[in-house]
Amino acid sequence: MEYVDVTDELIWAELDEDKCPCQGNGWAFIEDWEECPLHFQGQLHPMSVDLLLDDPARLEEAKRVSNLNWKIDQAKEEVRQARVKLQLAQSSLSMLELELINKTPTRQMEIIKIQECYPTVQMKAVRPQ
Ligand SMILES: [Zn+2]
Repeated sequence: MEYVDVTDELIWAELDEDKCPCQGNGWAFIEDWEECPLHFQGQLHPMSVDLLLDDPARLEEAKRVSNLNWKIDQAKEEVRQARVKLQLAQSSLSMLELELINKTPTRQMEIIKIQECYPTVQMKAVRPQ
């Protein structure tokens, strides 16, 4: 599995938009066009912008769709994280409610095997009376 270090991605980005290679546009040409880890918010890919420069209406529509897709991805991630949080909270609630009525799962006592403790004791079969 390939390991990607997040700090590598952040090397070229700058908090200040004017100093950032993306100039606040969300895209910067590093070795190829790359999304800025700090300023990318679904901006349309610069090559798509170039292709649509002579068609302002389609360009605006493409920008709108690109930004909406990014917002949808963000919202999906928020929902995913909220679900994980909800599951943890529910499991914690269940444990607390069980503890309140002393029904927490306890370790079962191990069955003591007499033969193992006292190997010399002979077990006799006893007929039930
Ligand atoms: Zn940037």
